[in-house]
Amino acid sequence: LMQLSVPLNFIGFIYREIRQGIADLEAMFSVLAVEPEIQDEPLAENLKVKEATIKFEDVHFHYDEERPILKGVNFEVPAGSTIAIVGPSGAGKSTISRLLFRFYDVTSGRITIDGKDVREVTQKSLRDHIGMVPQDTVLFNDNIAYNIRYGRVNATDEEVKEAAKLAQIDHFIEALPHGYDSEVGERGLKLSGGEKQRVAIARTILKSPPILILDEATSALDTHTEQEIQSALDVVSKDRTTLVIAHRLSTVVNADQILVLKAGEAVEQGTHAELMANDGLYASMWSRQREVSEAEARLAEMREDD
Ligand code: ADP
Ligand code: MG
Repeated sequence: LMQLSVPLNFIGFIYREIRQGIADLEAMFSVLAVEPEIQDEPLAENLKVKEATIKFEDVHFHYDEERPILKGVNFEVPAGSTIAIVGPSGAGKSTISRLLFRFYDVTSGRITIDGKDVREVTQKSLRDHIGMVPQDTVLFNDNIAYNIRYGRVNATDEEVKEAAKLAQIDHFIEALPHGYDSEVGERGLKLSGGEKQRVAIARTILKSPPILILDEATSALDTHTEQEIQSALDVVSKDRTTLVIAHRLSTVVNADQILVLKAGEAVEQGTHAELMANDGLYASMWSRQREVSEAEARLAEMREDD
């Protein structure tokens, strides 16, 4: 039996490596595979963004016909302002961001940018104007400079470094043995979720788009990383029309408006103060989250006391 256990462990190791590879591939394909389904209209124009006002008008959507996901969603994000979308998992929050980026088309209703339906413009021009920081960033198997420069391929080394600095990932990179030339991705360094997200933020800072979509990572981040990411996000969202799928209290509280989504419907909409006064779903989500973060803070203090 002893003799068998070593190869079995080894097989377990290989299996886990392969599983991880598949998981990364899935993440990649979930972004890439949907694109060919969406076609440009023959007369599609280039999107021209002046103000970057976003409107969802009675948007309905399903992935599979028998299961509606969004059931008549309405909201407007005035130019330069921030909307936070909150709600239980599976409510359709990420779906809203995918529709704005036009990975899928709405089933009915429409989405406009400065009054222009996103289905009437070329996908390239649409995506050129939108910066997307997803929940799970997949890095390219290349060096870290390449991964940041992807935001604007003709950026200089200085600009890449400046973006890294604004995204608060510069110190981390400079401490790596090969600095900006360090290989990352599946065959290189494995970065943590928070580090990958900051690379994605640096990429977006370089791109400097008028519209931002941020799908915030969940509680997996420690408080310190969370604060660093928050200040990086504040830099990039300033004066830009921003749609943020928000988990962090600080983002939610400071947003110009909050949309509470539940099972594909906007059940509450307003500012933090308005929704707290409503004493509905938002208020209960908020007080629950605050209890959790206060408990975490107490735990962290106890650990420091040791
Ligand atoms: P949230 O971001 O609020 O957690 P999502 O927008 O990711 O929710 O998903 C909303 C619902 O749509 C979920 O029930 C999810 O399982 C389903 N869904 C998401 N993506 C797909 C897909 N590609 N095909 C079928 N169903 C999907
Ligand atoms: Mg989501």
